[in-house]
Amino acid sequence: MTPSLMSGPVITIHLKKIEDNTRAIVDFCGEYDIDVIGVSKVTCGMPSVAKAMITGGVKGIGESRIENINRLRMSGINHPITLLRIPPLSGVDEIVNSVDISLNSELSVIKELSRTADKKGKIHGVILMLDLGDLREGIWPDDLLQIATETVGLPGVKLSGLGTNLTCYGGVLPSVKNMQVLVDHAHRIEDSLNIKLDILSGGNSSSLELVRQRKMPKEINQLRIGEAIMLGRETAYGKRWSGTSFDAFTLEAELIEIKTKPSIPIGETGMDAFGGKPVIEDKGEMVRGILNIGREDVDVGGLSLIDNSLSIIGASSDHLLVNITEADTKPQLGNKMGFTLNYGALLAGMTSAYVLKNSLLSSTSTIKNKIAMVGSSPVFNTPEIKSGLKSLGVEVTGPFTSTPENIEQSFKTGTVPFIAGPQRVTLSGMTAMKNVLGQSGLIILDSHASLMVSESAEADRKILSTALGLIDDKMNMSSDFSPENIVIIGLQEAEKEESDLIRRLNLTVFTMEEIDLLGIREVTRRALRTACSGTHGFYLSFCQDVGDNNSEGLTARELHLALELISKSEQMRAIDVSGCLKEGQIDYTPLIHFVESAFGRRILG
Ligand SMILES: *Cc1c(COP(=O)(O)O)cnc(C)c1O
Repeated sequence: MTPSLMSGPVITIHLKKIEDNTRAIVDFCGEYDIDVIGVSKVTCGMPSVAKAMITGGVKGIGESRIENINRLRMSGINHPITLLRIPPLSGVDEIVNSVDISLNSELSVIKELSRTADKKGKIHGVILMLDLGDLREGIWPDDLLQIATETVGLPGVKLSGLGTNLTCYGGVLPSVKNMQVLVDHAHRIEDSLNIKLDILSGGNSSSLELVRQRKMPKEINQLRIGEAIMLGRETAYGKRWSGTSFDAFTLEAELIEIKTKPSIPIGETGMDAFGGKPVIEDKGEMVRGILNIGREDVDVGGLSLIDNSLSIIGASSDHLLVNITEADTKPQLGNKMGFTLNYGALLAGMTSAYVLKNSLLSSTSTIKNKIAMVGSSPVFNTPEIKSGLKSLGVEVTGPFTSTPENIEQSFKTGTVPFIAGPQRVTLSGMTAMKNVLGQSGLIILDSHASLMVSESAEADRKILSTALGLIDDKMNMSSDFSPENIVIIGLQEAEKEESDLIRRLNLTVFTMEEIDLLGIREVTRRALRTACSGTHGFYLSFCQDVGDNNSEGLTARELHLALELISKSEQMRAIDVSGCLKEGQIDYTPLIHFVESAFGRRILG
């Protein structure tokens, strides 16, 4: 299901705050020689969040689910990943492929990991989990030495260390005593087996306070931290962690009703929609607002209104009732209200298909009205191109030859390269963009997907597959052009290998059928959301044959509307029509008009 972008609730992820929170915790732990594994599971392995944690200095990423790990790997994250949940026997093959280290407690699983890794010529790291009383996962201390001994004797696996997890099921707090038990077991294993354990993983966000009190044994050299990074809170006592923000994630929903009503229901009362017996205090008449969010979207009990002149009254599946009687500024219908979230609400919101997720970089500047013509297309020789763009207030320079340096120079000076020519240079354009800007989106307006991988396919049909490293890993740009920020609009045909890849990579594709159904305006809005989420803007690759094509494609009007919306977004960093001009084309007027639309030309001025 794709949430409607017009109206549904949105979680905004402030990536800079996540990066800063991470840095605060990494620096703090660093003082005690403790490495931090950044745990991304509450975001379902969102690549932009993992990247922010990596920039913030974590040693690796911790994830509990293989689907999330695959998601991270597809976005070019090559850092070590630790699997936090005990591997299922049935998933060993996939785990050995994409995970470096897993937390383990079952010898039969370790044996299977060993067999599989050995067959693939890999070494899989094993951390043995010890149950210190919280009664979730872990080996009972009496059995530890024997399992460690057997693990050390197996090929394809390496006993990387010991770990424990507390304050999850049983609420047992980390203490000097239970941490020392972990250290003693490590020493016993090292002495009896004559090995050195690399990692002693002393828990999660609930272990930070013990470190702060300088009570953590010095042998503990790793913590696996999720909540403290995401929500700025340690979890032993639930206190704010100094130097971190608690609002890296915010949620917004829209007011769909405002009425003055009594606070006490009228009539005989039975059960509410969830089988509870409502207990409601009489506060007299109040101004009540209804927001378009409910228990089907999040864990409502975990939401806090950012504006504290408002308060939550209650919620059902689809409605959240808010008391706005005392509001500092009177809200209007259609206004958005903001919330911060606790861990449970964040988890529910991030996994909900009804809630849109939008990650934001702190430094997204809008583009300046400057174009550099790049390439050797006859279109650059037409008088209309310069006069048309100039009349829109756009400064035009060039043409320049399409060298990587020229294209990079353009990005460096905040100028939009307009790349045209007989040869397709999209890969050079994308390379220049990611080299200068980093995280980037890609919008492809084309009837083809250019996702072929077979050797026999023409180079022009392999642009996207090459950029995603599916042909040659050396060309892989997926760590900057994540598949999650790539959109194809106007697809008319795809080979089987292409449609398989679209599905596997979870690319956002709008076929002509979907455009007919949703309308080009909604499609373009969704495309922009996808391409702009957590990026410094997007690269537009535009092929004229997305248009009419014997009435199979977009109409000229639809194309203009799409490009006008693209212009309004102010996030288009490059426009590329290289290799896409129609054969024998002599009249460049339609193309020039399309480019003008992408720079703000309106039909009625
Ligand atoms: C979720 C999880 C963590 C991270 O916990 P936080 O409280 O979010 O820091 C660490 N270790 C394991 C095994 C986990 O499952």
